[in-house]
Amino acid sequence: MKITSAKLDTIAVRRSQYPKDNKPEFLLVGRSNVGKSSFINTLIEQKNLARTSSRPGKTQTLNFYLVNDSFYLIDVPGYGYASVNHEQQHKMGLMIEEYLEHRKEMKRVFMLVDFRIKPTENDILMYKFLKYYNIPVTIILTKEDKVGSSKHNRNVKAIKDTLNLAVGDDIILFSSVNKTGRNEVLKVIENYLIETIWLTKPLFYLKIIFDNRRIYGNG
Ligand code: GDP
Repeated sequence: MKITSAKLDTIAVRRSQYPKDNKPEFLLVGRSNVGKSSFINTLIEQKNLARTSSRPGKTQTLNFYLVNDSFYLIDVPGYGYASVNHEQQHKMGLMIEEYLEHRKEMKRVFMLVDFRIKPTENDILMYKFLKYYNIPVTIILTKEDKVGSSKHNRNVKAIKDTLNLAVGDDIILFSSVNKTGRNEVLKVIENYLIETIWLTKPLFYLKIIFDNRRIYGNG
């Protein structure tokens, strides 16, 4: 998939503020400093649309980035940052819960985990929380360029085991430095976009089928 446009479209803290155009959405979660802003910027090929955090944990909103005018990437506040107080943490939890409980547009969560270290307690809790809601998850292992290839298999296994990865959930190694994994992530998104067209516009497919018949002259 080629990225032709991307912009910060909507900033929301509650349901009434979410976009109303029914486009598929992909949620990005991960602890502060895991590389989430870099991940977004790498995917959409922009240097600074998602601001890399000088002050981690500061965004307390759901930021909806509209990409190619066809889907949203949603940046969720990073967790596990020490200076965020209990009340703020509680509010953030409620905001994410409200989103996950009601959002039929949400197709998949990309959960970012640092490839260099074992998932933290907060990572484990977040993953359990997502599984409680039966949400499909792709684990993005960030900063792949910092891990020697001899350690790849060992680290992947440790992360899978620690999270107790569910059947159907997958893992993508990612680096915003050398773009490892970028195409794989876009492929995951693209598969949902195709599915959405199929579910919402079956006539569009019928047209493709008939167009093909004409092209190949076999109808
Ligand atoms: P966020 O807090 O999750 O949004 O994390 P950022 O995207 O701001 O990244 C945190 C730090 O990790 C920054 O210094 C980034 O330059 C660095 N970083 C992010 N992704 C990568 C990566 O793939 N490789 C390397 N080597 N550093 C990265």
